[in-house]
Amino acid sequence: MLTGMHVAVVGGDARQLEVIRKLIELDAKVSLIGFDQLDDGFIGATKHQLDEIELKTVNAIVLPISGTNSNGEVETIFSNEKIVLKEQHLKATDSNCVVYSGISNAYLSKTIEKANRKLVQLLDRDDVAIYNSIPTVEGTIMMVIQHTDITIHRSKVAVLGLGRVGMSVARTFAALGAYVKVGARKSEHLARIMEMGLEPFHLNDLEKEVNNIDVCINTIPIPIITANVISRMPSNTLIVDLASKPGGTDFRYAEKRGIKALLAPGLPGIVAPKTAGQIIANVLSQLLMEEHSIREEDH
Ligand code: NAP
Repeated sequence: MLTGMHVAVVGGDARQLEVIRKLIELDAKVSLIGFDQLDDGFIGATKHQLDEIELKTVNAIVLPISGTNSNGEVETIFSNEKIVLKEQHLKATDSNCVVYSGISNAYLSKTIEKANRKLVQLLDRDDVAIYNSIPTVEGTIMMVIQHTDITIHRSKVAVLGLGRVGMSVARTFAALGAYVKVGARKSEHLARIMEMGLEPFHLNDLEKEVNNIDVCINTIPIPIITANVISRMPSNTLIVDLASKPGGTDFRYAEKRGIKALLAPGLPGIVAPKTAGQIIANVLSQLLMEEHSIREEDH
C-alpha cells in the first residue's frame, strides 16, 4: 500500500486515469494538477493548480508519457491551463521526491538534475517497452489493414529492427500468415530471427531486400529507409514507420515516388489507452511501493 505517500499527478491523457485509479486504490494521497475539466470525480483525489499545492509534502510527481516539451510545458487534455514545470517547483518538494515520466528531454533532465531530484523514465524500462509493444503491434495491424487492399496473410512483410517492438511485430505478422523477413545488424539478432522461423537479412543489404515486398515496418530510430531504399521498393509498398519522431523514413522522397509512408507514433495511447494506462499504472505502483518501503525502513 502507499498509505502516507503524497503523489502529484501532473497532466496527461486518458492513460493517466488508470494511474490515478491505481494510486487511489493503494491509498496514496493523490493531488491532480491539470485535470480541472475531468468529469470523472475521483473520490480520494483532489484537483489543484501547480502553484497552490503544498509541494513540500509531495513524495512523487507523475508526468505524462511525453514528460514536458522543451520549454517545460506539460501536456494535458483535461485542462486549458498552461502548466510549466520549473526548477523552483521541484526544489520545493520533499527532498527525496522522485519524478516519473514516460520519456525525458534536455529541459526535463536538466531541471530535475538542478533541483537535485531523481528522474525515472518509464519507457526506458524493458518491462514497460515489452508490454507496450503489444498495443503497438495491434495498432500496426490496424494501419496495415486500413492502408492496403490485400490480406496480411501471405503478404510479404519486411520488419526493420529486432528490438522490443520489432520482435513483437515480426512474430505477430508471421502468426497472421505473412511471409516475414527481418533486417538487423547484430549476428545474434540474425540468429534469433532464424530461430523464430523468419527470414533474416543484414541491414547492409536493405536496398536489395525490399524489391518484392508489400509492407515495410520500421522500428529503427535513425534515417534507414532512405531515398535509395525507397527507389528499390515496388510502387504499391506500404511503409509504416513506428520509430520515434521523426521516424526513419525519407517521407519527402516516398511522397515524390507515390509510395504511401505513414509515421505512426503513440499507437498504444491511440488504440488501447486503457491497457496502455494499466501497463504504466502497474509498473509505476510497483516502483512507488518499493520507494515507499525504503522510506518506511529509514524512519
Ligand atoms: P529497442 O528495443 O531499442 O530497438 C531498437 C532497434 O533499432 C534495435 O533492433 C536496434 O538494433 C535498432 N537500431 C538502433 N540504432 C540502430 C542503428 N544505428 N543501426 C541499425 N539498427 C539500429 O527499441 P523499441 O522499444 O523496440 O522501440 C523502437 C522504436 O519504436 C523507438 O523509436 C520507440 O520510441 C518506438 N516506439 C513506437 C511506438 C509507436 O506507437 N509507434 C510504440 C513503442 C515504441 P541494435 O540492437 O543493433 O542497436
